[in-house]
Amino acid sequence: MNHKLKREHGFIHIPCHELDIFILSDGYFGVGYHQPILAPDIPQNMVKNELRNLYLSESYYEAPINVMLIKKAGRIILIDTGEGFYDEENAGQLLHSLSAAGFTPESVTDILITHAHRDHIGGILSKNGEIVFPNAQYYISRPEFEFWMAGEPDFQKSKNPEGGKPSIPLVRKTLSAIGSRLTTFETGDFLFSCIQTQTAPGHTPGHIIYSVINGDLSIINVVDVFHSPLLIAKPDWGTQWDTDFEAGIETRKKVLENCYQNRTLICSAHLPWPGIGYISKVNDQFQWIPKVYNHPFLINLATDLEIVT
Ligand SMILES: [Zn+2]
Repeated sequence: MNHKLKREHGFIHIPCHELDIFILSDGYFGVGYHQPILAPDIPQNMVKNELRNLYLSESYYEAPINVMLIKKAGRIILIDTGEGFYDEENAGQLLHSLSAAGFTPESVTDILITHAHRDHIGGILSKNGEIVFPNAQYYISRPEFEFWMAGEPDFQKSKNPEGGKPSIPLVRKTLSAIGSRLTTFETGDFLFSCIQTQTAPGHTPGHIIYSVINGDLSIINVVDVFHSPLLIAKPDWGTQWDTDFEAGIETRKKVLENCYQNRTLICSAHLPWPGIGYISKVNDQFQWIPKVYNHPFLINLATDLEIVT
């Protein structure tokens, strides 16, 4: 069967007291082999050995695009918008997943942008430039907005300085189109009475991660701090996708240590679908532990309290 011919979509529902969290699939991206995007400076045999240790493909790298939606009284908050029409072969499935979960684009009241890469803002506009979510207000961190919109973005600290440049016109066009509905916030602000944002620079200067908090339940979305379980095991191998390679490593290590120490439940934009799990340590090396769940569309956090405390 050729999976690429199918419209693939799906969602997971995570009730969180009065909040309903959903993880919606936008599809995935396929990048061929891991290197040089991941671990650009590491000898290939070392990378292959580690992939083998982690039971990951030694020849092909693909990663899902997992999008979070939060439903709370009077609000439907979407966090990022997937690839949109930019990769119709593998991705751009968000609207199908949204509909499968029982929502319409018109019902979305707020869109929080974690950072302005294409796989996160690509779904804001349709192919002919129309706004896809007609009733939404948009939010982006001030440093992220300024990086792309004020002066020339600087990619010199990236391992692939030319790689970021083609996305500048796309980002500027998209953020300009929603300019009148776009609000900037400071990294660290608490939004919508349920989302604690946190600065996580490196991937981009204004890249945020965030915790969704309701009473005794919380889940942290680490967004693009990890693009593969490989970078959890080997955080300092790094990725060319980070605007600042070294800052990306520093952020990755900090997030890993915090999540490990606190047994934090994580979700993520690009870890294997649905991107939910924990950070463990084996022989002094961090390891991704996918969350166990037993219903195809539902994760019940309330039953986990005894695990995470
Ligand atoms: Zn991403």
